[in-house]
Amino acid sequence: MSSYTELAERRARLVSRFDKARVDALLVSSPVNIRYLSGFTGSSALLVVAARRSVILTDPRYTLRVVQESDCKAKIVPGSPFARLSPIAKQLGIRRLGYEASRLTMASYRTVRENLPRTVRLKPADGMVEDLRLIKCKSEIAAIRQSVELNSKAFTAAMNRLRPGWTERRLASELDGQMLRLGAEKPAFDTIVASGPRTALPHARPSDTPIREGKLILVDMGAQVGGFMSDMTRMASMGDPGRRWRRLHEAVKEAQLAGIDAVREGVTAAHVDRATRRVLKSHKVETYFVHSTGHGLGLEIHEPPRLARKERTLLRAGMVITIEPGIYLEGRGGIRIEDTVLVTKAGCEILTPTPKEMLVL
Ligand code: ZN
Ligand code: ZN
Repeated sequence: MSSYTELAERRARLVSRFDKARVDALLVSSPVNIRYLSGFTGSSALLVVAARRSVILTDPRYTLRVVQESDCKAKIVPGSPFARLSPIAKQLGIRRLGYEASRLTMASYRTVRENLPRTVRLKPADGMVEDLRLIKCKSEIAAIRQSVELNSKAFTAAMNRLRPGWTERRLASELDGQMLRLGAEKPAFDTIVASGPRTALPHARPSDTPIREGKLILVDMGAQVGGFMSDMTRMASMGDPGRRWRRLHEAVKEAQLAGIDAVREGVTAAHVDRATRRVLKSHKVETYFVHSTGHGLGLEIHEPPRLARKERTLLRAGMVITIEPGIYLEGRGGIRIEDTVLVTKAGCEILTPTPKEMLVL
């Protein structure tokens, strides 16, 4: 959990960007952004951040929790908080209120607009909190580290129990169960388990297909711990997968390591993406790499930056990203290897402790 000092610092950094964004205050409606700035984890709330004060509006269900979790002033309102902004805007003298355009529904926007005096201008101000969230502080890194380590332990425990004939779905539920048993709040996303030719689907849903002898297995899983996510993909095989798949696995591993090698403060996200593609090209399989190299993660499983061909975002120390090249041969199978890494000044630290070798069961 973040300390009140950390929370106050985050809000102060946000306020320091108001001039440039030409707003006096920001209406934060995304629950993760509210949690990041105020500590409050309730599902129905609004946060108004202003230089003078920050106010959380939430409903009576959260009367107790809001004061336990947050140092912001709490205002308990019945019904929709979107309709209750007018007194706060008045108190804080807000004339230009920024809002998270891509996070607000049209209906909520209308409620806000209809209930505010005309003198208050609403200004779209997307990505302001996401920008702050790009660089993780010590306590965030510690939480992500915990999440990553728990996730790897759950993987090992579940794979130790896997038996021939289990369905993909059974393995997925074993992975989820191990995560929860070890103390995760929940899986970070729907756990992906694919076997045989189904590994060629980058986002396969676990099916009732039994995992048979000689088949490849792809597991992509993440845990949520203290609100923070982890993300890992590993390949396994029930018995020897054959020479061809072992070779392709080596190629993807080489690409993944090249990606990791390319990570350091000051390089562009595209630079890292190029590094993985270059290796896959040298193995003549680059055309089978159909997605981007990775993504940031934190309170959400997909956060900026994106590590893709044209992304010019500069990597900075304190960013946490995934490196996950993969190749997918339609109807035959696919290979992906994914780690969560922390960007540092000189390079990066691989947080994922699980060996990258194909796990032959
Ligand atoms: Zn993943
Ligand atoms: Zn990922």
